[in-house]
Amino acid sequence: MKLGIVGLPNVGKSTLFNAITQAGAESANYPFCTIDPNVGMVAVPDERLQPLTDLYHAKKTTPAVVEFVDIAGLVRGASKGEGLGNKFLSHIREVDAIVHVVRCFDNENIVHVEGSVDPARDIETINLELILADIEHLERRLERTRKAAKADKKLSRDVEPLEALKAHLEEGRTARTFEGFGEDEDVDRVVKESDLLSAKKVIYAANMDEAGFTGDAAENERLKAVQAIADAEGAMVLPICAKLEEDIAGMDAEEKEMFLSELGLHESGLDRLIRVCYDLLGLMSYLTAGEQEVRAWTIEKGTKAPQAAGKIHSDFERGFIRAEVIGYQDLIELGSLAAAREKGLVRSEGKEYVMQDGDVVLFRFNV
Ligand code: GDP
Repeated sequence: MKLGIVGLPNVGKSTLFNAITQAGAESANYPFCTIDPNVGMVAVPDERLQPLTDLYHAKKTTPAVVEFVDIAGLVRGASKGEGLGNKFLSHIREVDAIVHVVRCFDNENIVHVEGSVDPARDIETINLELILADIEHLERRLERTRKAAKADKKLSRDVEPLEALKAHLEEGRTARTFEGFGEDEDVDRVVKESDLLSAKKVIYAANMDEAGFTGDAAENERLKAVQAIADAEGAMVLPICAKLEEDIAGMDAEEKEMFLSELGLHESGLDRLIRVCYDLLGLMSYLTAGEQEVRAWTIEKGTKAPQAAGKIHSDFERGFIRAEVIGYQDLIELGSLAAAREKGLVRSEGKEYVMQDGDVVLFRFNV
């Protein structure tokens, strides 16, 4: 999963991104990931990994990871090439979802590019850039579709919905809020194939100051303004304090727990952000366990066994025979795979099996 952090300058993106890289997963475990200063990786918190590691006396524990991309440089006029403009917009195209950092904290020493702290205006500014870029993108697509439809009548059915989508964007509204999106299959297809920035799922990270975050955040007027916009487009809001996250990221597990409980919190904002993104994108984890390694793998809900196996290696998918599956809870309660087998709790599942969250799996395959 790849998340893009966007927001106006001086809203706390780098502070949040620093927290991410400090909390960062050991990159040695992820040789497939490119080393890029704008990419940070964080482990997906999963409390099943440690008990499984203990059970198997595994040499290594590898959590699932989320990749965060710091997409700085988005300013008013970006769609027309201002700031670092188009280059950054293309980075957004590659992410699965957007974390839109919105400044809700006060600090007279830190200038706001627009002269005042106003979350609603900031959100609109960024969203408008994405919408403008989308309109341009869509115009090109419409032109191509119209041309192609002359030769292939089938394609003409797309022209009308594309025009409607363009009209919707021209009203200054995001593609996420296009009528029927997420409900109607045909609309979904047209929107998806258009590959629009403003169609991506978004989480608004309301960056509060320490006092506002640890106090009664719900009372904060700025947070309410963010919430109102999010409600109107069915998006999520997550109050964070990037500064606190930076502090927390440098702590070891014990310190972190103590610090959080002093603040009356159960988990860090970063852990919450990852959890919320997982939910938002309809993701879940399955597990593999052995003496060598206990590991969590990310899949979309509804993924079938062969495709889940394909996350480990494409050969596993191609040569898939069956999956031996046991629920995490059963395995921990019985204390070993052998005991679980005796009780008949290890199931043999075929190609049509839909993976469940917390399945501990051994794939059987032909090479
Ligand atoms: P960016 O331009 O969006 O990457 O913003 P930065 O992360 O560089 O933050 C700009 C300034 O705001 C820095 O001086 C940060 O220390 C400060 N800042 C960031 N997050 C917070 C926060 O949660 N609370 C307060 N009080 N200041 C913050």
